[in-house]
Amino acid sequence: MTRKRVENASAYLPESRSLNSLRVAAQSCEACDLYRNATQAVLGAGPVSAKLVFIGEQPGNDEDLQGLPFVGPAGKLLDRALADAAIDRSEVYLTNVVKHFKFEERGKRRIHKKPNTVEVNACQPWLEAEILLIKPKMIVCLGATAAQSILGRTYRLTKERGTFREHPWAACATAMIHPSAILRAPDAEERHRQYEEFVADLKQIKNKLKQCSRAAASSGRSRA
Ligand code: SF4
Repeated sequence: MTRKRVENASAYLPESRSLNSLRVAAQSCEACDLYRNATQAVLGAGPVSAKLVFIGEQPGNDEDLQGLPFVGPAGKLLDRALADAAIDRSEVYLTNVVKHFKFEERGKRRIHKKPNTVEVNACQPWLEAEILLIKPKMIVCLGATAAQSILGRTYRLTKERGTFREHPWAACATAMIHPSAILRAPDAEERHRQYEEFVADLKQIKNKLKQCSRAAASSGRSRA
């Protein structure tokens, strides 16, 4: 008998919610096809008290194997940039819009494949559940997939990068490029230029966070 496919992951969410119970429950999710070939579902990492949440696209090869977000080359670059912007990684929450690694095999390598709209929409309940537990002051989308999923299909990173807006999930929301884009720069000079811009964006986010925290407090969004 063919099992009926559910529209999104909401049917798999646990009744009792904590970051840990979400991590455990997501291992059973079959709301889209991506669970079939991935090693495991990778939810976010960081404290539930985080004021700042970074949201990328999906786990990569290293994340899929280790079960942790942002531990591969892009994650290491993000770590360095956070340190250069004086943002403490242990105080931020890092996650992705899609929780299983989508890839195609080329020889022995597993090459990242962009998730489609159906997969992104199917996975959104996991992200929303994480955000509702954390109640961040600011969410930062990394890359176009996260930005368009969270800030709207018409969002254009090239035009709107560095701008801030209100969002139902946080007093402030913004987007910047994904650190993997810097790794794909054609040469060292361009990679350096993009890295410097990336750090400048992070510094702006750090400064804006104080304002967002005040806005959250005055609107009653603050964590009790
Ligand atoms: S990608 Fe998301 S919706 Fe799809 S199976 Fe994995 S956890 Fe479920």
